[in-house]
Amino acid sequence: MNIRETFLPYGKQQLDDQDIEAVVDVLKGSFLTTGPAIDEFERKVAAYVGAEYAVAFSNGTAALHGACFAAGIGEGDEVITTPMTFAASANCVLYQNGTVVFADIDPRTYNIDPEEIRKKITINTKAIIPVHFTGQPVDLDSIHKIAKEYNLIVIEDAAHAIGATYKGRNIGSISDMTMFSFHPVKHVTTGEGGMITTNSKELYEKLKQFRSHGITRNSKQMLENHGPWYYEMQFLGYNYRMTDIQAALGSSQMDKLDTFIAKRKGFVKTYNQSFNNMPEVIVPHQSSDGESSWHLYILKLNLDLLKGTRKKIFEALLQRNIGVNVHYIPIHLLPYYQELGYKKGSLQNAEQLYEEIITLPLFPAMTVKDVMDVIEAVKVVIEEYRK
Ligand SMILES: *Cc1c(COP(=O)(O)O)cnc(C)c1O
Repeated sequence: MNIRETFLPYGKQQLDDQDIEAVVDVLKGSFLTTGPAIDEFERKVAAYVGAEYAVAFSNGTAALHGACFAAGIGEGDEVITTPMTFAASANCVLYQNGTVVFADIDPRTYNIDPEEIRKKITINTKAIIPVHFTGQPVDLDSIHKIAKEYNLIVIEDAAHAIGATYKGRNIGSISDMTMFSFHPVKHVTTGEGGMITTNSKELYEKLKQFRSHGITRNSKQMLENHGPWYYEMQFLGYNYRMTDIQAALGSSQMDKLDTFIAKRKGFVKTYNQSFNNMPEVIVPHQSSDGESSWHLYILKLNLDLLKGTRKKIFEALLQRNIGVNVHYIPIHLLPYYQELGYKKGSLQNAEQLYEEIITLPLFPAMTVKDVMDVIEAVKVVIEEYRK
């Protein structure tokens, strides 16, 4: 087989002249940060997902930290999330001195299993952070039922899921708070960036104040008023602000989000058609409760039918210049979490899945030839390692 000449990454941004002009316009204007471009980007994302409010942050991780603060997470509070996600989904709880409790995944959907959440609830449970892994919507009805029963706050980690839907509703409009990320591998990018959407005015105001040092200039919120210069720092916040430069890029990117998702869906269809009849691999689950936004395409290996390990197959694909990846190393296995006392063997579905998965390249700027190269490489490598 012919090996691709250039390396194909698993994901990357797509920028056009409109994006570049939007950024240049800000550079020529008078605001570089927290100006009109932030308001416009927040309005645009809120309108797209159908939420009342949106607060932009310097990155998705900062946005999650803000959400944990606004939810009132503190020492002694337990927050339940999935181990099969990026470290940031759990780290945000630790920033607030809370305790992370992992609930295992459903081996079919790879998303957190509501029944496992139920088993992990204690008197100290305060919130749930479900993650729409790869863009597949989690079982929100079951999660909200549990949250209602135990009076828990739900913060969706939708870093993979802008543009996804659950039972006809847009992700971002449903829970107490929803986080989006605008890192370059995500659906739309601002370089670094994140956002929380919410329908609560109270949470909205807390988030805005948290992102800027805990300071308010709103006289209605202040305890005193020394004069026109006066501001009040009322709690310990951070500088987690996004720049206008980034927000302008984000607004311009939002115009293309639907096209980007349509491209991803088309490539997923081609992948599925090519791999569906290969017993050595298992194609991703397709939710019947909603539409995935397809951030990642994860192929699961049926290792019983293969000679090599996942590592061997992964390396063989890399050698063919296919930029495969693994999403994710379960968080509880990371050395920092091991030191905190989380145990290997405690979340068996996530641990087993981790041994079997390979992420294939998927991004809107891929060409049909790129997709065909991936399919051919997978077929050749699987043929080579078939028992
Ligand atoms: C990317 C990502 C984050 C963090 O977003 P950043 O913008 O990179 O800080 C959090 N959770 C998940 C699942 C992610 O993929």
